[in-house]
Amino acid sequence: MKSLVTGVAGFIGSHLAERLMREGHQVFGVDRFLANYPRHLKESNLSKLTAHRGFQFVEGDLTQLEPGGLLRDVSYVFHLAALPGVRASWGKEFVHYTQNNVLATQFLLEACKGTGIKKFVYASSSSVYGDTQDLPMREDGMTRPVSPYGVSKLAAEHLCYLYWKGFALPTVSLRYFTVYGPRQRADMSFHIFMRALLRDEEVPLYDDGEQSRDFTFCSDIVEGTLAAALYQGSGEIFNLGGGSRTTLNEVIGMLEAVSGRKAKLKRLGRQEGDVRHTAADISRAREKLGFKPRVSLSDGLAQEWEWIRKIEG
Ligand code: NAD
Repeated sequence: MKSLVTGVAGFIGSHLAERLMREGHQVFGVDRFLANYPRHLKESNLSKLTAHRGFQFVEGDLTQLEPGGLLRDVSYVFHLAALPGVRASWGKEFVHYTQNNVLATQFLLEACKGTGIKKFVYASSSSVYGDTQDLPMREDGMTRPVSPYGVSKLAAEHLCYLYWKGFALPTVSLRYFTVYGPRQRADMSFHIFMRALLRDEEVPLYDDGEQSRDFTFCSDIVEGTLAAALYQGSGEIFNLGGGSRTTLNEVIGMLEAVSGRKAKLKRLGRQEGDVRHTAADISRAREKLGFKPRVSLSDGLAQEWEWIRKIEG
């Protein structure tokens, strides 16, 4: 069985590809090495995969690749390629979000049309919900993103729905809630906090620290993503979250315990586009996909801390 994984050099894509290979899948991976964080980290993410005989990789922008070659013998498409990040998506940067998040998704959907693909799994985001008071967030609740990034992820989700409705392409969209663990992107808060702790630098903390997130460990996200590929239905949306909510102040306390170091906090203002709270209602994923997050925040933080210590040398 062959799967296409877009964004395979990224944080989640590389974990997913490794898991697929353990299941005996061949993986065709694509990545353009966007400069949202250092290339050497993405190359390191890929290093375990490239040694494997069942892995093929092509470097390039999805929209510039020949669709036939991309999809040859492919049964499952896992579309994780995107330019992530809420705060950077304003102003002139938005063109990169439309290019990599919206246009690239439409290009891939168009290429998959009429090919007999078994499932097209799209990595969407909790950011499509926006700053709602209606917690936990349910898939049929209001979507009103408060960042251009969230708008781009929602637009691509709508495209997935359109290609299912119009062309019977079996798409499923997964709303990932703040994913963490080894290989976490260098622009994400746990990575930034841990790097600062390790280097004995100030830990930047936006807002009052009482904002909360539903954090999801990377292996739990990978399991939910695989389950979505094997799910019989399509044209549906699922939240994938860790199932509980933790404030950033609590996270800092947990990191101090894991690292044995005291955080020197640098308090900063609230950032445009940041939501105050996220919380996933995962009952739909639990019932239909058998999704069950297994890794506790304290265990997951310890695993990420070990990884940060290794890469920081
Ligand atoms: P990442 O930046 O580590 O990985 C994404 C990869 O996609 C990058 O390596 C990038 O170079 C590649 N890419 C982007 N546009 C491309 C294009 N046009 N052609 C080829 N490659 C391209 O990000 P991640 O954190 O692993 O996120 C993976 C997916 O999950 C994204 O779609 C993101 O929006 C979604 N997501 C992530 C989180 C999270 O907490 N990490 C939360 C919600 C949703």
